[in-house]
Amino acid sequence: MEDKLNFGDLSPSDIAELISGFNERPYRANQLTNWVYKKNASSFDEMSDLSLSFREKLKQNLTLNFPVSLVENKTSKDGTKKYLFILHDGEKVESVLIPEKGRTTLCVSSQVGCAIGCTFCLTGRVGKRRNLSPSEIVGQFLKVRDMEEKVTNIVFMGMGEPLDNINNLIKSLEILIDQNFIGFSKRRITVSTSGLVPQIKELGKSISVNLSISLNAPSDRLRNEIMPINKRYPIEELLKATKEYPQPRRKFITFEYVLLKGINDSNQDAVSLGELLRGMKCKVNLIPFNEANPLPYRTPDRETVLNFQEILSGFGINVKIRKNRGRDILGACGQLAANYPLDKNNRKTKPISQVR
Ligand code: SAH
Ligand code: SF4
Repeated sequence: MEDKLNFGDLSPSDIAELISGFNERPYRANQLTNWVYKKNASSFDEMSDLSLSFREKLKQNLTLNFPVSLVENKTSKDGTKKYLFILHDGEKVESVLIPEKGRTTLCVSSQVGCAIGCTFCLTGRVGKRRNLSPSEIVGQFLKVRDMEEKVTNIVFMGMGEPLDNINNLIKSLEILIDQNFIGFSKRRITVSTSGLVPQIKELGKSISVNLSISLNAPSDRLRNEIMPINKRYPIEELLKATKEYPQPRRKFITFEYVLLKGINDSNQDAVSLGELLRGMKCKVNLIPFNEANPLPYRTPDRETVLNFQEILSGFGINVKIRKNRGRDILGACGQLAANYPLDKNNRKTKPISQVR
């Protein structure tokens, strides 16, 4: 790759700065983003309403690309699609498209692999290879939008911990949401996190999208075991940050809870979770564990899952059971590994170097 800046990595304020550095009028920014994000221009040469000299300046200083190329596309028997993208340096990520009645959700990746090392997640077994750039995050959306009918919702629940790549996450959200860029509704975007408390606060200060917390255990003792990040940011701190987070209007915080057979699925666990969340404006999504080699857990029986739901409902909590879409193509939650070799023993002590 050349060393020039990529236009696809620039946020609204970056572009405003660029334009003023070129001594061009501010409205030029809208012309540019209109070409790139509304008319799908792939070069500055196409931008016929910009002067030749301005186009020349742009070409000298910038590239324009969304460097993700589709290498494989699998469709599950339930209609879920998984896309494998290759990046400019040969790294790979996956995105998943989930068509449902009345909505089509795209699940995007934010990193190649993940540093957090949750014991039930295949992406964690890959380890963190690198962050995705804004153009690589937005590129997944643009490539799928070009191939498919309308994407109505975007969730950051693919590979990686989005808040461990917060600068690029925020830029990509700005590009997605700004009316002069892609103009996607922020109410239809959800960022899911394992619970990086300082970054939850930072995200809340910069942009208001839906937040989803992967809670997965009702006590620090259990959460420490399956999600090592809990040792750094225990449940009480996490819930405090969650309560202070500015959700979009009339939207509730979501808690994800992966049900692991015999680990966190007992009646007592359901009661403890109910007590923990009682009175909070929240929703709970129960995700029966998606099995994948070499993960050492099993999916609970249907009865256990329903029972868990009933106990939680008894606490006045809105609780749904997530359908396991795309399991047959390893496209369900926690199954994304982009064909990388997996750490069979899960060395949980891998450095979480990027996490503050
Ligand atoms: N890193 C972020 C976003 C990606 S993971 C996060 O953890 O929130 C998306 C969701 O998949 C998380 O809620 C996680 O708890 C869940 N998950 C991970 N592995 C799973 C598995 N094997 N089965 C079911 N859900 C899983
Ligand atoms: Fe990373 Fe999320 Fe998987 Fe945990 S569940 S290892 S944070 S991708």
